Amino acid sequence: MPLYSGLSDAGVVAVERSMWWFHIAGVLAFLVYVPYSKHFHIILAFPNTYYSNLNPSGQMDNMAAVKKEVDLMMDPNADPFAAAPPSDEPPAPFGVKDAPDLTWKQLLEAYTCTECGRCTSECPANHTGKLLSPRKIMMSTRDRIEEIGQQREANGGKWEPDGKTLLGDWITEEELWACTSCQACVEVCPINISPMGIILDMRRSLIMEDSKSPESITSMFNNIENNGAPWAFPAGSRGDWTQEVLP
Ligand code: SF4
Ligand code: SF4
Repeated sequence: MPLYSGLSDAGVVAVERSMWWFHIAGVLAFLVYVPYSKHFHIILAFPNTYYSNLNPSGQMDNMAAVKKEVDLMMDPNADPFAAAPPSDEPPAPFGVKDAPDLTWKQLLEAYTCTECGRCTSECPANHTGKLLSPRKIMMSTRDRIEEIGQQREANGGKWEPDGKTLLGDWITEEELWACTSCQACVEVCPINISPMGIILDMRRSLIMEDSKSPESITSMFNNIENNGAPWAFPAGSRGDWTQEVLP
């Protein structure tokens, strides 16, 4: 190589040794840097993919507390006046308002996201100019987790609520209600992350904890409550359409 042609044998050996050590030191330094950087996904991608959700991608999880109530209502042998067993535990919140409400898998997903942006480039809400970016949902979640982690460290391992929440201070209601639940972000993610799961859980918090929902959905809820169906017609007239189409 012309660059080294003027070097003596000892000079070539010195260059070779110094490059060798440069690479070794560089690799070791990078290994130490990895857990503190976004490159942590190199390692976390393996457990995150191993623990992927294997249910059909359109299947939404029931909320255990709500399902328990429905099961009790449907059980003819259940005593409707039975008192709940005493418990010192505060009732679990509905949905997700802040990072501590997320499941361990959602926390893992936040750290596993490679920020590649495939989800956002497939998101129909983002395509049509809405505020929503599923990539940003994952990054906001991770930022909030890190903020809480730093506060815990500064507080000797204890975290006191700081008056901020993931829902509201990091992710807005406008972003959440822009999601069409189409699953495109889930399907396209190379490491099986579900930004939509976090969005749905935050919507559950908005509706069930704060009674907040857009006008279009509120009327549907009212119809289900009053008519047992999403349409504004009483249950008694449900079969009327047969009179119109049958001779
Ligand atoms: S599920 Fe929601 S966030 Fe994901 S691609 Fe569809 S609209 Fe976008
Ligand atoms: S496609 Fe997956 S890894 Fe890429 S930015 Fe979206 S959530 Fe993160």
